[in-house]
Amino acid sequence: MNNTQVYPVKAFQDNYIWTIHNETHAVIVDPGESQPVFDFLKSRELSLSAILVTHHHPDHIGGIHDIVDRHDIPVYGPKTETIPAITHKLVEGDSVSLDALDMTLKVLDIPGHTAGHIAYIDNQRLFCGDTLFSCGCGRIFEGSPPQMFRSIKKLTELSDSTEIYCTHEYTLSNIKFARTVEPDNQDLANYEKIVEQKLANKQASLPTSIGLEKSINPFLRYNEPKVVQAAQTRSQTPISNEIEVFAAIRAWKDNF
Ligand SMILES: [Zn+2]
Repeated sequence: MNNTQVYPVKAFQDNYIWTIHNETHAVIVDPGESQPVFDFLKSRELSLSAILVTHHHPDHIGGIHDIVDRHDIPVYGPKTETIPAITHKLVEGDSVSLDALDMTLKVLDIPGHTAGHIAYIDNQRLFCGDTLFSCGCGRIFEGSPPQMFRSIKKLTELSDSTEIYCTHEYTLSNIKFARTVEPDNQDLANYEKIVEQKLANKQASLPTSIGLEKSINPFLRYNEPKVVQAAQTRSQTPISNEIEVFAAIRAWKDNF
């Protein structure tokens, strides 16, 4: 078991550049900006070992150029997306050995938000970019609802204790939407209080976990009768399977 920790380096308005580190070395995920990374490394006296990228959006890759200018390190990212400076192109089943941290991550393909979106996972932690958020999921920019549904479902099949490190602090606004879908969900009401408290204390609401998300996230609750009913009422068309429930909830959130 390695002794790494994960720390959220803030970027832009609501992005997190997740930093996996031990006493001496760090690996960063989705550096949309470079300066917050440089500041973090300096303040902790850490040397940077690698960059991991989940997808091609500018708020996830914008800092890479400046960082590799200063650090001669590998940059891992999705094989099927065009991202400058990627040195290792990955698809599902590949592994990333982070020797400086004594850890290995496996790669999952989770297309939908973008066509080539990938995630990184070890036994305990999932870095899933903009695919699954706490109490929400990413917008479907390049894929289809069935594709995004399969990606999300793949993540729900991970162990309930898996910690989820997604890249945006959207939790509270996602909860507002989820409470509209499921006004009677007591777990959701409790979670809202916890998240409000964390944000008031200037803490990240994340990580969340697969187990927790199953009880609060409407995009994972496509089999719950009340969620099915809400999707049905909203979409005004007959819904006959879980993909259609998911698609109806996603379309609802797009206009919320
Ligand atoms: Zn994105």
